[in-house]
Amino acid sequence: MKSFIKFISVAALCAFGAAANAASFRTVVIDPGHGGFDNGGLWGRVYEKHLALDTAARLEAHLRQMGYNTVLTRRSDYFISLPQRVNIANSYKNAIFVSIHFNHAESGSANGIETYYNTPQSQALAANVHRSIMRKAHVIDRGVKTARFYVIRNTTIPSILVEGGFVSCCDERNRLKSGWYREALAQGIADGIQRFKGN
Ligand code: ZN
Repeated sequence: MKSFIKFISVAALCAFGAAANAASFRTVVIDPGHGGFDNGGLWGRVYEKHLALDTAARLEAHLRQMGYNTVLTRRSDYFISLPQRVNIANSYKNAIFVSIHFNHAESGSANGIETYYNTPQSQALAANVHRSIMRKAHVIDRGVKTARFYVIRNTTIPSILVEGGFVSCCDERNRLKSGWYREALAQGIADGIQRFKGN
């Protein structure tokens, strides 16, 4: 029984810690996936690394307007390792981390958006951001999922990874190439961050 009570109080502390963190963060570390020789998924001239950087820049503009401090792990087309990305994220305390990627599948028909998290403190962030993205971008909802991706597993702050669509799918690739779609994606992510902060 004693250990049960101990467990409850630890759980309560953890819940309080996560809530305090959600309310107090002012900085968003934005991580555009891949870069440099690492193109990520590609199809013809459509490269994941370019889509990710453009969406990240759009997201930064929205967040700045909302009064957040923003940090980008890369600002142009160069390579940065996964540990370097994590080091940048972990150097901020009152912050959250959002990694932006685009999907690629052998099956050309796979399409839609999915949002990943790894740690319990990141679940609410993933849920809020995913819901807001789906409101802006009217595409297939692949859901909120857990995964052991390096950048969301090794960061100490709430961290998510958004897969904003498939470069390998014909219809979706055409959408990804459009500024309005990447803008909708960026707006959706920004709205979700705001909702998470308000929770
Ligand atoms: Zn990727």
